[in-house]
Amino acid sequence: MLRDILEEVALTRYEIGKTALDERVMAAMAKVPRERFVGAYDRHQAFVNGPLPIGYGQTISQPYIVALMTDLLEPRPDSIVLEVGTGSGYQSAVLAEVVQQVYSIEIIGALARAADERLRELGYGNVTVRHGDGYQGWPEHAPFDGIIVTAAAPHIPPPLVEQLKPGGRLVIPVGEPGGIQQLMLVEKRGDASVSSRSILMVSFVPLTRSRP
Ligand code: SAH
Repeated sequence: MLRDILEEVALTRYEIGKTALDERVMAAMAKVPRERFVGAYDRHQAFVNGPLPIGYGQTISQPYIVALMTDLLEPRPDSIVLEVGTGSGYQSAVLAEVVQQVYSIEIIGALARAADERLRELGYGNVTVRHGDGYQGWPEHAPFDGIIVTAAAPHIPPPLVEQLKPGGRLVIPVGEPGGIQQLMLVEKRGDASVSSRSILMVSFVPLTRSRP
């Protein structure tokens, strides 16, 4: 799996503007047991470099994308990070290996409960999972050093930009569901001005919204 990630990094080096990913991120990818986050039926495929179903029509992203998105956050051991779209909890676990605290929101209750249980079984005490609509972020724990969204949004949610610390980074796929989306990196500078750039074309399940 690590070799596949390295190969994809090499193939996309011009788009992503780097030839290697953060060493701590690669060590986390090596450590987190991906097979524990997919159904028994798909376990033999857990290390294939592609997305896998996790139930409820949702998927766990391909390892390269998980690694790239984590790298783009520039995680530090003292970072407080928000994830929107807990899904299986795999991305949360990778984050938990490289930051201090992860807050993760999942809109499908059953997935949130299963991920929470799995992360606890695996000993990830620094991940807090909540069932809810992540479009609004998690104001009680804001501001965040990094925010990662693992479902495609039609636009960058303003509450998430608001909940970034100065110097913080938001990584999010933006575009139409089922269509081509751009993985965007949004940076809030020290003076609170915001810049964003597109990193790579990707394909994610859509960010859904809870109805009022
Ligand atoms: N990060 C996950 C992959 C998740 S797929 C993993 O590592 O397994 C995207 C997830 O986003 C799905 O579980 C979907 O239910 C969830 N989602 C979609 N819209 C959401 C929203 N508005 N708030 C929170 N979660 C959302």
